[in-house]
Amino acid sequence: MIKSLVEKTVSQALNQNQDPLPRSGVAGEMPLGESPSQPISHTSDLSFGNSESGASFKVAEGSNDEDSQPSAVFPIFIGKEIQITKILGQIHRTYIVAETEEGFVLVDQHAAHERVMFEILMKNFQSQTPARQKLLIEETFYLHPRQVETMRKYLEFLNQIGFETEWFGERSFVVRGVPSILADVNPVTILKSFVEEKEGGKVRTSLKGAEEDVAAIVACKRHSVKASDPLNLEEMRGLLKSLGQCQNPFHCPHGRPTLIRHATGDIEKQFGRRG
Ligand SMILES: [Zn+2]
Repeated sequence: MIKSLVEKTVSQALNQNQDPLPRSGVAGEMPLGESPSQPISHTSDLSFGNSESGASFKVAEGSNDEDSQPSAVFPIFIGKEIQITKILGQIHRTYIVAETEEGFVLVDQHAAHERVMFEILMKNFQSQTPARQKLLIEETFYLHPRQVETMRKYLEFLNQIGFETEWFGERSFVVRGVPSILADVNPVTILKSFVEEKEGGKVRTSLKGAEEDVAAIVACKRHSVKASDPLNLEEMRGLLKSLGQCQNPFHCPHGRPTLIRHATGDIEKQFGRRG
C-alpha cells in the first residue's frame, strides 16, 4: 500500500512539472540535452536483486487477461521509438519483461527506478517548495567526527531536494522531513550512507554537477536499503509510465542502460524462421 502511494507520488511529481518528452532519444544513446558529463561512479548497492531470489519467474497477477490490462493505458511510450503494448511479468524480482510494437524489452527495474527518482530530485532543486514529508517524530543521529564537516557542507543541497535536516552541534544532526518519494525508507540510513559515499569522494565544483551528484547518490542509496522488490502489475505499469515521462529514460544517473530492446526480427533469425 505504501508502495503504491509512493508510485502515485512519483507519477504526480513527474506530471507536475512535466517537460515535453524528448522525441529524439534513441535507446542506447545519451541524449544531447542532458549532461551527467562524467558518469558518477557506481556504488556498492549491487546487492539489489541478487541471492535469495532463486530462479523465480513471477507472472504478473492476473496478467494475460485482457481485462487486467485495459487497453486505455497502452501503449506506454518510452522515447518515441518504444511502445509498450503489454506487460508480461518480472524475472528474478529484478527485470520487467514487456511486449512492444517491435518485439519486447527487458527493463532493469533498479536502474529505471533510479532514473525516475533522480529526475524528481533534480526537479526539487529547481522548485522553491520541494515535495517533502514531515516525520511524525524527528530523529537525531550521530556521525563520526571526521564526517561532520562533509555533512555540513551538503546540508543545504539535501534540504533543497526535500530533506529537512540540520546540524545540532558536535557530532549530532537532526532530521525532521524527507523528500516525499523517500517516505518509505529510513532517512537516517540514507543520510548516513550519503555521507559515507561523499567522504573522500571528489567534490564537483559546478552547481549543476554538485546537484546531480547529490540527487544520484540519494536515488541510488534508496535501493541499497530497499533490496529487490517483487512488483505487481500495477507497480510495473507505474514504473514504466514514470520512466516514459523522464527526460532521459534510457540510462540511470550512472550511465547504465535502463532497458534492452529485442526485435522480433532478430528472434525470428535466431529460430531460423528467416535468413
Ligand atoms: Zn545507477
